Amino acid sequence: MHELAIAQSLLKIVEEEALPYQGAKVTRVKLLIGRLSGVVPDALKFAFEVISQGGVAEGASLEIQEVPVRLRCHQCGEVFVVDNPFLTCPHCEGTGVEMVSGRELEITGMEIEDGNQGGQEHP
Ligand SMILES: [Zn+2]
Repeated sequence: MHELAIAQSLLKIVEEEALPYQGAKVTRVKLLIGRLSGVVPDALKFAFEVISQGGVAEGASLEIQEVPVRLRCHQCGEVFVVDNPFLTCPHCEGTGVEMVSGRELEITGMEIEDGNQGGQEHP
């Protein structure tokens, strides 16, 4: 299962980030996931929930923002959003395009609760 391996590496990063905060709980993890990354958000949430049990990120919610596939036309420079990455430019019908976004898989933010003064943003 693809998502399990991703959830494991996510958890590792989250646990390392939370390390300086003694006794803290991670309450929220924000992610960017590109449409072409091949990750199914619900499967990733489920995998993360299972493997984070008993750890600092137990009960943390994954906030997943999906990033659309964007292409840039080499001919006219137009950037456009597509469902299928193998289209021609809608502006000039050029076929030389490059992918601008759509393969992201990154943590953009975390919320850590230290038990004293509520949650705090941790970039
Ligand atoms: Zn074009």
